[in-house]
Amino acid sequence: MASEHSEYEEERNELIARLKRLGYLPKSGPIYDAFVKVPRHEFVPLSERPFAYVDHPLPLWDTGATISAPHMCVLILEYLQLEAGHIVLEVGAGSGYQAALIAEMVCPSSESSLTEELCGHVYTIEIHPQLVEFARGNLERAGYADRVTVIQGDGTLGYPEAAPYDRILLTAAGNAPPPPLVEQLKVGGILCMPVDQGSYQAMMNFVKQSDGTLKKEHLTEVMFVPLRGKFGLVSKKRWFF
Ligand code: SAH
Repeated sequence: MASEHSEYEEERNELIARLKRLGYLPKSGPIYDAFVKVPRHEFVPLSERPFAYVDHPLPLWDTGATISAPHMCVLILEYLQLEAGHIVLEVGAGSGYQAALIAEMVCPSSESSLTEELCGHVYTIEIHPQLVEFARGNLERAGYADRVTVIQGDGTLGYPEAAPYDRILLTAAGNAPPPPLVEQLKVGGILCMPVDQGSYQAMMNFVKQSDGTLKKEHLTEVMFVPLRGKFGLVSKKRWFF
């Protein structure tokens, strides 16, 4: 296993240096630690492994899904303002890579002296059966099976069994936060999602207020696959991926 990992050492270090230089990756701290710990090559299809450490999204076979570019995965960690102990719901497990990064932040591995109460959990829902199996296998191999639960189903309905959530992330673009997800978010919690704007998508944070309303913040422009399911994307525009 170790020799297999070292095969990617040089490319990993180059990517880390590049993301630091461009200002995406902090020089130290929990986001840096999470990014360095999660082996991205364990989360991409075999045919894509040579490109695992290129700062680009990669296709997950012909499913239409992609594993986001590393810089986007890092930005998402920043947007979510994660803390150890958080209970997080992700809609769109895909490869399981983003879920593993989040798991490293809500329940950091190894040498830390964290107590059990400070170990959070990630629930990630995936609608595509092939990707459910893929994400589960990747997370298990990379050592995240006890910190991430992969659920098959329509993520726009959420996962009430483990609600309420401190943070909710959607990695597919919709029109607005699906009502069941707003319901399952804690007051003061953040829901982060790409929102279709017609000609582009805006990454937005929605913070749940004590009266149940959402306060929104525009973060950046992005390009994610469409959100399927009951409260998925309704658009006249066709996205080509
Ligand atoms: N976060 C992933 C990237 C996901 S791409 C990673 O780190 O690799 C977006 C994913 O959302 C796709 O796998 C797609 O199948 C899934 N998806 C789209 N609509 C969904 C829905 N309603 N419920 C659950 N998953 C959904």
